[in-house]
Amino acid sequence: MIAADIETGVARLRDLVDEADVVVPFTGAGISTECGIPDFRSPGGLWTKYQPIGFDEFLASAEMRSESWRRRFAMEKQFSTARPGCGHLALTSLHRSGKIPAVITQNIDNLHQASGFADHNVVELHGNTTYATCLDCGRRYELGWVRERFEAAGSPPDCEACGGYIKTATISFGQAMPEAAMQRAEQLANTCELFLAIGSSLVVWPAAGFPLLAKRRGARLVIINRDPTDFDDVADLVVHADIGRTLEPFIAH
Ligand SMILES: [Zn+2]
Repeated sequence: MIAADIETGVARLRDLVDEADVVVPFTGAGISTECGIPDFRSPGGLWTKYQPIGFDEFLASAEMRSESWRRRFAMEKQFSTARPGCGHLALTSLHRSGKIPAVITQNIDNLHQASGFADHNVVELHGNTTYATCLDCGRRYELGWVRERFEAAGSPPDCEACGGYIKTATISFGQAMPEAAMQRAEQLANTCELFLAIGSSLVVWPAAGFPLLAKRRGARLVIINRDPTDFDDVADLVVHADIGRTLEPFIAH
């Protein structure tokens, strides 16, 4: 059912949330656009202007590693000043009420953690861009540390422990999906009673398989997204509206 308007959608969503003991949200770029984080894939988005740097290119070329870091530093103001929006805060309220065990996200912006989810309750399918790790030994590095050395040397530093390449903790195109996160997301989709797909166009596989998995396991499926998705037909409720406005009534005050 596609909600006729936002009020109808919110009322129906409230019933579905009340009826479910275990709610699992799956969030995409749309939940963070109100926070000033651009949707890279959208028309006019960053990735329509710059070809993304694939993982193989990052490994193969020092110039691509430098370019990748230059682009990341150019985005730093947007990422470091972004604050959780109404969508994030609503999910945190439902998490604190005991309904939501964890959130699955395609986002790399750390805003679910910033809104009050513990790290281990945010299942990041595409990693996290707010810090970096060594690709070989996994040691964590802060972006300020990387930037200082990049600006002094004109190229990004290598790992102090093992000499490996340091990269933002994101999953690049061509990089393997994080296995533990994929398993946890599958387990959450398998065991929830209500699956909320929020702000995702649901086109990026394999992540887009989770709503269908949940539905097949008997969960109800709600899609909240500005634009139609390929899964609108199978959802129990579809709300084509602004995510912050749709979820704001679920923020506990
Ligand atoms: Zn290392």
